[in-house]
Amino acid sequence: MGIIIEEAKCIGCGLCEIACPYDAIDVHMKANVDNSKCTDCSICLDYCPTDCISLEEPLAARSAFPPGEAAFDVAIIGSGVGGLCTGALLARQGYKTLVLERNPTVGGRYSSLKHKGVTFPTGGSLITKGGPLEEVFAEVGAEFDLATPTVNPRYWIRGRGWIDPGEGSSQLRRTLALVSNQEEADRVMGSMREILGSRNFPDGTMVQWIDSLTDNPDVSGIFKAITAAAFGPEDVPAGDFFGLLSATAGRGMGLARRGGLGLMRSLAKVIVESGGEVWKLSTVKNVLLEDGQAVGLEVERRGAPWKVQANVVVSDIGPKQTIRMLGEETLDPKYISYVDEQIRPMGGITVHLVSDKSLVDGFPGVIYAVGARRLCIFFEASRIADWAPPGKYITEMYPKADPDPGVAADLELHAEEAAADLDDIFPGWREHAEMNVICLQGDYPGNQTWTGMGVSAETPIANLFMVGDGCQSSLGNAGGTAAAESAQRAAALIRERFPAP
Ligand SMILES: Cc1cc2nc3c(=O)[nH]c(=O)nc-3n(C[C@H](O)[C@H](O)[C@H](O)COP(=O)(O)OP(=O)(O)OC[C@H]3O[C@@H](n4cnc5c(N)ncnc54)[C@H](O)[C@@H]3O)c2cc1C
Repeated sequence: MGIIIEEAKCIGCGLCEIACPYDAIDVHMKANVDNSKCTDCSICLDYCPTDCISLEEPLAARSAFPPGEAAFDVAIIGSGVGGLCTGALLARQGYKTLVLERNPTVGGRYSSLKHKGVTFPTGGSLITKGGPLEEVFAEVGAEFDLATPTVNPRYWIRGRGWIDPGEGSSQLRRTLALVSNQEEADRVMGSMREILGSRNFPDGTMVQWIDSLTDNPDVSGIFKAITAAAFGPEDVPAGDFFGLLSATAGRGMGLARRGGLGLMRSLAKVIVESGGEVWKLSTVKNVLLEDGQAVGLEVERRGAPWKVQANVVVSDIGPKQTIRMLGEETLDPKYISYVDEQIRPMGGITVHLVSDKSLVDGFPGVIYAVGARRLCIFFEASRIADWAPPGKYITEMYPKADPDPGVAADLELHAEEAAADLDDIFPGWREHAEMNVICLQGDYPGNQTWTGMGVSAETPIANLFMVGDGCQSSLGNAGGTAAAESAQRAAALIRERFPAP
């Protein structure tokens, strides 16, 4: 088992290293392989632009499957966190399950890539502890391997610089007192305590709530930065903010120690160990319908047409994308209007700085940027979760989102504003760090919809279910956690209506 690299043809581009799900390839000018880790999956062959990789023992029809047919109890379109959670829950319950993924690796917007030993998320990276995602991992027996920040947050405040409230309880109160005075800090904290205790959330927005208590721009700036870090925009309905706070109190966040891909592969492993299959490089072209029921899928599996029969179909590719695949004419126009109302994609942007020195002096927690043009939260991911080799550092930063749902983000402007913020926060950063910005929007956005919106897991087709972050979620669950919650709902409905054979 293993691969051979024809050194003369290798151009050291690193694509094979990025693509390899098993960390078996390391590129330093040329690709080097550790065949003890290779599984003959052959993904690297699909990525190599110079065809310099071959399998030691060639498999017949390695990269192109012949046309074929297969039958499963459940077929899931997309291996995002919603698809894999549904697949693992159902496979463990005895359903013969297939997950189909068009990409060479699993996990969609919750996965990761490795480049020169540094882990880069493909989308989401901050993972909520103690919520639906952790529950799914516990139920299916997969390892939930998170590294969490070990200290209280710090704050960088425009015009003041670094604020360190120290360790211990009442850290937010101490921070507020440092930027205003004790009386004001007590007033704001008292209002919060009363709201959370009574669960009587104020009308209006967060900015209106804080402006009614203070005219200190640093105090309101702290709440804007925390809101933007949690939701994207820096102002949201106050009920959403306090609802999130009460729902997630004490839960905490973490980073996947082996990157998102490591977590997502644990779910894929559960599916395979339970008798299911995960087909990568397999694009679903169409859902086959008969008498208003889904009967299977048309799939292009590594270039060859496949027909997959299924008793139940689950879509993790987004509600609007699913409607397009089904064809609008197959659905009640009322359902299409409902989806249009509930789905307001939000651009997702992350800035990564890879540096040869720690920009935050190795601080192992999160830092809020208050009063910055674009950035609202950042943390050294290599310090928290070991995401870089010795001598390298990766700092992950989230910019605040544009306030209007559905408005396309101007990537160049975001990058310029983030760089200008960095000039203020880390003068001289350009000598030590390279900036990488990822931006997902449109059909493959940061979040399929805004907090409080989203569609039901049920669709007008009785045996077709929807999962992912475009589905309704409980207060406090967003992004990957919301996608996992949708999987719990869909799996429960499927178990109730289509019992395992
Ligand atoms: C920059 C950014 C930062 C984010 N930060 C966070 C964060 O810190 N915390 C958090 O919880 N969330 C975060 N999110 C959101 C989070 O990434 C998503 O909510 C979550 O990953 C969505 O998962 P999903 O199940 O909806 O599916 P997706 O990840 O969208 O997966 C769908 C899968 O379907 C596949 N697919 C599509 N069409 C087909 C087809 N026809 N055939 C086969 N396969 C197909 C795709 O390739 C993909 O793998 C962030 C997102 C972005 C972009």
